[in-house]
Amino acid sequence: MTDLIRSESQPQPGAETIGNIECRAFIDGRFVAPVNDGRFDCINPATGKIIAKVASCDADDVDLAVRASRRAFDAGHWSRCDPEFRRRVLVRLADLIEQASDELAVLETMDTGKLIRDSSTLDIPGAASVFRFFGEACDKLVDETVPVGPGALATITREPVGVVGAVVPWNFPLKMASWKCAPALAAGNSVILKPAEQSPLTALRLASLAAEAGMPEGVFNVLPGFGPDVGGPIGLHSGIDCVGFTGSTEIGKRFLGYASQSNMKRIWLECGGKSACIVFPDVRDLEAAAKAAAAGVFFNQGEVCSATSRLFVHKNILKDFLPLLLQATQAYEPGDPMHSDSGMGAMISEEHTERVLSYIAKGRQEAELVAGGNRILLDTGGCFITPTIFLGAAPDSVIASEEIFGPVLCVIPFESEAEVVSIANASIYGLGASVWTQDLDRAIRMSRALHAGSISVNAVDHVDVRTPFGGVKQSGNGRDLSLHAFDKYSDLKTTWIALGKTA
Ligand code: NAD
Repeated sequence: MTDLIRSESQPQPGAETIGNIECRAFIDGRFVAPVNDGRFDCINPATGKIIAKVASCDADDVDLAVRASRRAFDAGHWSRCDPEFRRRVLVRLADLIEQASDELAVLETMDTGKLIRDSSTLDIPGAASVFRFFGEACDKLVDETVPVGPGALATITREPVGVVGAVVPWNFPLKMASWKCAPALAAGNSVILKPAEQSPLTALRLASLAAEAGMPEGVFNVLPGFGPDVGGPIGLHSGIDCVGFTGSTEIGKRFLGYASQSNMKRIWLECGGKSACIVFPDVRDLEAAAKAAAAGVFFNQGEVCSATSRLFVHKNILKDFLPLLLQATQAYEPGDPMHSDSGMGAMISEEHTERVLSYIAKGRQEAELVAGGNRILLDTGGCFITPTIFLGAAPDSVIASEEIFGPVLCVIPFESEAEVVSIANASIYGLGASVWTQDLDRAIRMSRALHAGSISVNAVDHVDVRTPFGGVKQSGNGRDLSLHAFDKYSDLKTTWIALGKTA
């Protein structure tokens, strides 16, 4: 771990490792230089320093990885093995992630600027638990026999789809990779993972851990690089049967286009959000609701797809609620992400910081700024924004309707249940929603009325490996996590056997 931190203070020009972490592509069971020898700088957004030179892959590397993946798939060592073997390898991989968790947490924090506290207690253990869950599940799912009468035997069996592309974002790099790769691998597919260009390091480390866990060559490949260079060719390659994508709605739509221009590969999308948190006057503990509302938008610098960035507060409690919210917000003062007492870390990049600041500038015209609104700690060379709250934005204003993906909250008063349902649903997104009430009937009515993939009642954004996660409308299709994730990465085969005379 100290090696990793030392590598940043003394970056090696052109270095292809950070500490002992490989920064080349991982294809067919080994680390290799990209075909066209491209590299890009990997930057720590909390310091602005280069931490590594990472392989910048392109369409030629995608083609190599697809060939290796297909060879592995056709050989059947993984795709047609006894699933007990897949279980052992994936559970071993979960163990290895846990053993390497300190190193992975430091890598994740250096790469993204997120708090080390969160990397080490949430991101890395979360990724391990996802590999463990899907590993454990792979030899426990059973196929179906259909009651079709004595003259035939009809079975429905699951088969892996083939070669799966996994294209993931930078906000939870290892966790998002696990959400795609674990179910796809457990179902018997070969996988090509493309991490975001802002955060490739833990994906590369995952490749070496997968090899150590005993995953056969070619089954798992990692191609770092830029979206148009690697993500585009993955979307367009006719040797890829399915893509699991997490990222923006804009790029998600491009993947639908890639599929239509190539082989109609199936595209599963987890995209943007603008989730609502709704606080009714009968909430039991106003302070707990205020703390949760702050966490719902400021956790991980607000770089969370399901962040509850629209907070609807009933007008009768707004006067009491707002001071509690402002107090809770003080816990999110940004600072060095490696320090345990920092409340938020750094934003992912200069570019994204500018984008969030431009939304804040717009917000100053559209609503009343009641907290934050500044870039701070400029002397660190890092990208830090204070937790920001706007009051009274019109529901259809820019800051209350577009995904900002930063620590920016819009507080909007409401008067009636019908009104808040209608405003909350008037969004192109539908990822999550949170409802605070003690009235059971109201909780159930709201859960049924809100257009979102997950509803948390008296909690915000509750995510669990055993329950599905995903959205409706332009937040995406399909679901990550839970046993339902297997559906995305397997095909159903019907076999109908006409029987001879039965006794
Ligand atoms: P992004 O869409 O810019 O990038 C996501 C991935 O797509 C990256 O790997 C990127 O390199 C790749 N990509 C970029 N341009 C591409 C192109 N032209 N062709 C093919 N691939 C391309 O998103 P981001 O900025 O990395 O992440 C933020 C977004 O992700 C937010 O909108 C957020 O809501 C969303 N997100 C959604 C979920 C979810 O589960 N719904 C989870 C996390 C993040």
